[in-house]
Amino acid sequence: MLNKKMEESMDILIQAYKTYGDGVVFLTSFSMEDNVITDLMSRAGTGIKHVTLDTGRLPQETYDIMEIISNRYGITPEIVFPRSEEVENMVRAHGINLFRSSPSLRELCCEVRKITPLNRILSHRRAWISGIRSEQTLSRKQSEMVEPDPMRPGIMKFNPLLNWNSDHVKEYTEKFMLPINALYSRGYRSIGCAPCSRAVLPHESERSGRWWWEDSIKECGIHAPVRFKPVLREDE
Ligand code: SF4
Repeated sequence: MLNKKMEESMDILIQAYKTYGDGVVFLTSFSMEDNVITDLMSRAGTGIKHVTLDTGRLPQETYDIMEIISNRYGITPEIVFPRSEEVENMVRAHGINLFRSSPSLRELCCEVRKITPLNRILSHRRAWISGIRSEQTLSRKQSEMVEPDPMRPGIMKFNPLLNWNSDHVKEYTEKFMLPINALYSRGYRSIGCAPCSRAVLPHESERSGRWWWEDSIKECGIHAPVRFKPVLREDE
């Protein structure tokens, strides 16, 4: 089963590279999923460039795994930061922890620290690769392995792990002894910015530790619009 998944995902990665060459990039957060993709890309020999977003609020453990994976695969990810003046203006107006104040300020923080930098990266690219899986959220269930980016007209998006479940990711990680972010061993199942991610209990959904104080679809705006109540919960 895992071999079939690997073949299917590598075909998608090869297709992306053959179609777009340097016009396609892989956006990695060095999650378990993204590290699987990095490993698959190295097996497929695609040469697709890695980019990552440094929001300025990442956990130290994410910087550690970034370094470990970069060394293991001999890659130099392009690290993209938000514009300093945009962050300064936002913090001056709304405070350093604005994301806890209201849904719209959480959305603003993700916009400034994640979405605008990503859009800047993609403004001179034609396609990108993401590590989303369909079981993660309701909106991701509606995605396709190859699709026009629903958030960015004119850009294509490749989701090579869309049909993998968390057991497939775990099995692959163990089989090929991939390093993982140390926070997973402390109960985290989805890791984003430090103040907006926490460990979850075994019965909780994997993204329930993201922005745990809010009733939302658990998206930041990269893959789907940020939506708050009234919406279905991801586990309904
Ligand atoms: S995840 Fe939290 S800290 Fe990171 S950009 Fe979004 S609101 Fe800001």
